[in-house]
Amino acid sequence: MEKLPNIIILATGGTIAGIAGKTTITVGYTSAAITVETLIEMVPEIETIANISGQQVVQISSQDMNNEIWLDLGKKVNELLSNPDIDGIVITHGTDTMEETAYYLHLVVKSEKPVVLVGAMRPSTAMSADGPNNLYNAVALAGSKNAWRKGVLIVMNDTIHSAREVTKASTFLTDAFQAPGLGALGYIQSNVAHFYKEPTGRHTVNSRFNTEGIDELPKVDIAYGYANVTRVAIDAFVETGSQGVIYAGTGNGSLTDEVMDALIEARSNDVIVVRSTRVGSGLVARNGEADDDMLDFVVSDTLNPQKARVLLLLALTQTTDTKEIQQMFYEY
Ligand code: GLU
Repeated sequence: MEKLPNIIILATGGTIAGIAGKTTITVGYTSAAITVETLIEMVPEIETIANISGQQVVQISSQDMNNEIWLDLGKKVNELLSNPDIDGIVITHGTDTMEETAYYLHLVVKSEKPVVLVGAMRPSTAMSADGPNNLYNAVALAGSKNAWRKGVLIVMNDTIHSAREVTKASTFLTDAFQAPGLGALGYIQSNVAHFYKEPTGRHTVNSRFNTEGIDELPKVDIAYGYANVTRVAIDAFVETGSQGVIYAGTGNGSLTDEVMDALIEARSNDVIVVRSTRVGSGLVARNGEADDDMLDFVVSDTLNPQKARVLLLLALTQTTDTKEIQQMFYEY
């Protein structure tokens, strides 16, 4: 009989660990309530496809995820994966910021082994809870040779996504995770991972980012564009010490005159300015809605604002050169 893979489940909380008093409650429940031991006990099927051990890393709703936890988590994942006896890692996570944690790890993990993030849209006590099947799929994926060298993955609703492209696109549907315009990497069915695409950006072992020895990440914030937008948010971020501002502009990262003035002023104060978009798909064209070359701005390519923030956080650990940072946005 083939040897089962050794998989570690790192639990961080979220709805997959959520509980409610009734099976019909799918909103207004308590998130991050059950521990990793209980999660594992609730899905005994995972022990038939892997040797499982669990660690509770934090116990939070994922809106409370922050730079400090990311730094610790990245280091922990690297340390665990450097052990030749460990074949893959599953991270259970709230769905709200799962895409950001996944992309952070995609950039800092130094291993070809699978790292799979998973969560649930319904609490563990709900009728047709999606957590158990998602967890089973995540363990199968983390133990699959097909998942090596694919970077960090998210599996939800039987669908495998790359950390770079995936986003939470519904507040409540069980197929909330989508990669708008670019598509999923594959499917998982009866614990077999079927891949149809490969991530093309640099990641994991080909990434230049390394957080060993770093114990603080820079302050990077996101300002949102809308009709009648003012410069107040941008000014406030700059005044409170942001080293980078992502502007989630309308359309192709378009700016009003007032926003443009605020961003030019920010840049003259050495703040890195990244033009992104609130649209949710497509790429922001350099020198399109603004003369980025002249203004010394960076464009986010196809990264959504929250992922652009993650990349800029890491970029700023290495450089403040905008040409180099722009190149990173094209490569990662
Ligand atoms: N807001 C909570 C979180 O992200 C619950 C949402 C979820 O996990 O689906 O942890």
